[in-house]
Amino acid sequence: MIKFFEKLLNLIYIQDCYFCKSTKEDTLLCSKCYRKIHFLPPSVLKIYKNCNIYSCCLYEGIIKNLIHALKYKNKKKLALVAAKLMYEYWKNLKIEENFLVLPVPIHKSRLKERKYNHMDLICKEFCKLTNYKLEKNFLIRTKDTKKQYNLHKQERIRNIKDAFDIKQTNMPEKESNLLILDDITATGITIEEIIKLLNKNGYRNITVLTLSTPDIWN
Ligand SMILES: [Zn+2]
Repeated sequence: MIKFFEKLLNLIYIQDCYFCKSTKEDTLLCSKCYRKIHFLPPSVLKIYKNCNIYSCCLYEGIIKNLIHALKYKNKKKLALVAAKLMYEYWKNLKIEENFLVLPVPIHKSRLKERKYNHMDLICKEFCKLTNYKLEKNFLIRTKDTKKQYNLHKQERIRNIKDAFDIKQTNMPEKESNLLILDDITATGITIEEIIKLLNKNGYRNITVLTLSTPDIWN
């Protein structure tokens, strides 16, 4: 009888790995799946207008699956998995300063449709791990842009142009160290647009951390 209840409790409380469904480790990302992630070296991926852009892993397999589930399948719990991966990478960079974390915003119509911005969730978890402050009401998305991946470079630039703005009422100090977090950077156009906007408004200390990047930086 006790065994039966034990089994029942296990069924209720033990988490299975989201990726391979194994229940052995009671975690959303098991060590076997973790080992499949291709981490990038702890160095700058790209510099744009004096801002360092970092990316933690390659956008493939587990990471691709994780982002998709978090974004479109309502798997909010995976935000902590993503934040932990980003934190692990970030720690290796050994950057001492304190940061104000800004999530890349989504348009309000997209927010209505998806109910949440997955980057807000990741940033919230990332801030708990780092003790940084989160500011999710400063950067705003003013244009509901088309999905970028099936557009050519020139179309992407046109698509993202003037897509963001800032809320004057939520402006941090100009000297603040801003850390922008995003899930994926491919061409870097989105991030560059945000950097330009922040520069225009007097912000110079900007760092970008993205969870992933495809292997081809075009
Ligand atoms: Zn697994």
